[in-house]
Amino acid sequence: MIKFLSQLLDLIYKKRCYVCGCSGENTKLCSKCFKKIRRLPVKILKHIDGVAVYCSAIYEKEIQKIIRGIKYHNQTELAFFQAKIMYDYWKQLNISQDTYSIVPVPLFDKRQKKRKYNHMELVAQEFSKLTGYSINTEIIKRIKDTKPQYKLTKKQRKKNLHNAFEYSEHHYNGEKLLLIDDILTTGSTMEEMIKTFQNAGVKDLTVFVTSCTEFNIKNRSET
Ligand SMILES: [Zn+2]
Repeated sequence: MIKFLSQLLDLIYKKRCYVCGCSGENTKLCSKCFKKIRRLPVKILKHIDGVAVYCSAIYEKEIQKIIRGIKYHNQTELAFFQAKIMYDYWKQLNISQDTYSIVPVPLFDKRQKKRKYNHMELVAQEFSKLTGYSINTEIIKRIKDTKPQYKLTKKQRKKNLHNAFEYSEHHYNGEKLLLIDDILTTGSTMEEMIKTFQNAGVKDLTVFVTSCTEFNIKNRSET
């Protein structure tokens, strides 16, 4: 009901910024809030099992609201802005000239049906429009209904994710894969995904996350 009302209000009045609520710019994310997002320097954040990890912004208020809006509150229009934050960063890298296949972190089927969509697939679609890269959602599936990670310790996360993914060789054509996710915390999800690919002999991997926690920035690798 609230959602319906807010959509109706959007229709009658102008679109409101999902973060600050202002309606001056008739957009889901106003330029002020977009500018407030703290971006990270364009360099490798860290390596996970030898794979370079890039990250576009720090996970704090504005970006948190955007990610949660897409993920839990049907604010699918925000996917464009999340992709734009990533693209602003990505286009500055020399490696962005290469051709990639974007692989959004998959959700377990049942969870995706319940949520109606995989939020990272929506971001991948927008990122694909900006970069011209293709998307590959068939190459890896989540075959285990893992528990939400945020309450678990690093050790529990690892156990929770153990053998959570399944690789499909029929859907691989030797292209460079760009694995994307919204937040990097302990990196356990990416670690498990990378392991799945590497065990199958797929080596050309790059990780790109929209945001990461301060912890990752403090522990940035010097390479
Ligand atoms: Zn705003």
